[in-house]
Amino acid sequence: MKKVYLDYAATTPVLPEVVEVMAPFWSQSFGNASSLHSFGREARIAIDQSREKIAGILNCLPEEIIFTPSATTADNLAILGAVKNRPKNSLITSSIEHHGVLDTFKYLEKQGYQVDYLPVDQQGKVELSVLKKTLTGQTILVSIMYANNEVGTIQPIKEITSLFKNKNLLFHTDAAATAGFLDLNVQNLGVDLLSLGAHKFGGPKGIGLFYVKKGTKLSPVIFGGHHENGFWPGTESPGLIVGMAKALEITTNQNQQNSQRIRTLRDKLITGVLENIPETFLTGHPKERLPDIASFVFKGVEGEAILLRLDAQGIAVSSGSACTAGDLRPSHVLLSMGIPQEQAHGSIRFSLGGQTTEEEIDYVLEKLPKIIADLRQMTPRMD
Ligand SMILES: *Cc1c(COP(=O)(O)O)cnc(C)c1O
Repeated sequence: MKKVYLDYAATTPVLPEVVEVMAPFWSQSFGNASSLHSFGREARIAIDQSREKIAGILNCLPEEIIFTPSATTADNLAILGAVKNRPKNSLITSSIEHHGVLDTFKYLEKQGYQVDYLPVDQQGKVELSVLKKTLTGQTILVSIMYANNEVGTIQPIKEITSLFKNKNLLFHTDAAATAGFLDLNVQNLGVDLLSLGAHKFGGPKGIGLFYVKKGTKLSPVIFGGHHENGFWPGTESPGLIVGMAKALEITTNQNQQNSQRIRTLRDKLITGVLENIPETFLTGHPKERLPDIASFVFKGVEGEAILLRLDAQGIAVSSGSACTAGDLRPSHVLLSMGIPQEQAHGSIRFSLGGQTTEEEIDYVLEKLPKIIADLRQMTPRMD
């Protein structure tokens, strides 16, 4: 059967060049980077060179990059580290964050911090006027994602950070959905802390990073050694680090042409879906959105049912809701955007990538209308 992968926002295949540069590090150049002998030095050099390469892309200093196992870990270390050893003052985030951020703030709320979850408009953009009103002299940390991984809406990070001039607070952004599509120059963005995970941009799973602006007062929250400036103790994986650096280099170099190609295919998908399937709408911002994501609500149908039917045709996508055992709540992102609960249950996210072809989009457009029509016939309308 034909296999069509349209779930790049969940994870991407590792680029062949990345597999190649990682290969020597498993059984040949396997040294522990903390060892003083030649095996160790070889590993240390590989890590240092990767850190420099990444720093060049983010336009920061190598020592401002901390390697972690994932973007989720980076989110946790950034947020918990920023508030530790500081008075329990107020924190601000948005209501549409990834759980790596959202759940960390929920935990802090239980610990006695005051947390404001900023609302978003119907297109998923954070309301800057509300942010301005919420900011006080007591605010010590603001965390707002660069772009949303479910609907693709991009937040105006530069505009947001310009509000913080002369304010004594830290700003963190979860940029995990953006590499290869948006500018990651941390000086331009004006951020203090930023998280990324390699498997979203053609790198391996199990490695991510966070950027910590020099001079930022951040406390370690786990312990065990001096690795990664003490923020992520434990033996580093030179293979994964080298792989992430290579993947970031390739995606950054290909940014323009790749984004344009993906955007064109994505727009074809959006137009085809909206023209051929009634009672369907696109979620997220119509223009200020990542080029790879197209997510829809198909009224009167369950997202999971669509996902399974598509899977039966070899097409892999995500559904916005998490109707797994014990969790019947639809996506917090869609609900925050004011989409009614019963509609939010009918959401599907398509996310495209470097290997997506026009033929694959045509295949989806051939299969999807019938799947939706069949499901609508079977299931009684919920709304
Ligand atoms: C994928 C994703 C994460 C989690 O990344 P991991 O590296 O898998 O932990 C966090 N935030 C956003 C916006 C993402 O898209």
